[in-house]
Amino acid sequence: MNIILLGAPGSGKGTQGEILSSSLGVPRIATGDVLRAAVAAGARLGEKAQRFMDRGELVPDDVILGLIREKLASPEAAKGVIMDGFPRNPAQATAVDGFLSSRGARVDQVVSFDVSEGELVLRAIGRASTEGRSDDTPDTIRKRLEVYREQTQPLIEHYQKRNIVSIIDGTGTIDEVAKRVEDAVQS
Ligand code: ADP
Repeated sequence: MNIILLGAPGSGKGTQGEILSSSLGVPRIATGDVLRAAVAAGARLGEKAQRFMDRGELVPDDVILGLIREKLASPEAAKGVIMDGFPRNPAQATAVDGFLSSRGARVDQVVSFDVSEGELVLRAIGRASTEGRSDDTPDTIRKRLEVYREQTQPLIEHYQKRNIVSIIDGTGTIDEVAKRVEDAVQS
């Protein structure tokens, strides 16, 4: 079962990805977490990535595509994965589709989280004060929302052609949203 969670920054993909990962027993791979860990470890990858992340821009594909392939090729990912934070643009979607098909697999389901922009900004401001992420400043949040609209949102159409997209309401309690995600994945 290979599932992509799509949604703007603050739409709840991470929280729901964790819940889904434990209920399905498949790992969640979050490129944002991998990149932040690389930054914290002072790794080369992190050094290259940080300035893009701090500006709210996508980390270039030459950095990300290798990372995605490495994560998808790991033994834990063989039975399926929950992709959180990737693919984030058409080139990454092509890479994911190509990698999975080379192993006789495919993207089985895409869950897209629908949350209004006003709510996203409020959540981001709340998160900035609790988590202290360096990319949660008002300017960066605005930029990340713009990047999402321009580069990531078109992927919904890419996967809609294959009839595997469920758009769910991302507002409400964590449990309410989790129930919607579960229904979408079982459909
Ligand atoms: P959010 O979705 O809340 O913005 P993430 O943790 O998914 O948070 O991503 C944080 C930042 O990491 C992004 O703004 C971007 O700079 C970088 N990033 C994460 N995943 C990718 C990706 N697949 N491709 C390019 N950049 C990425």
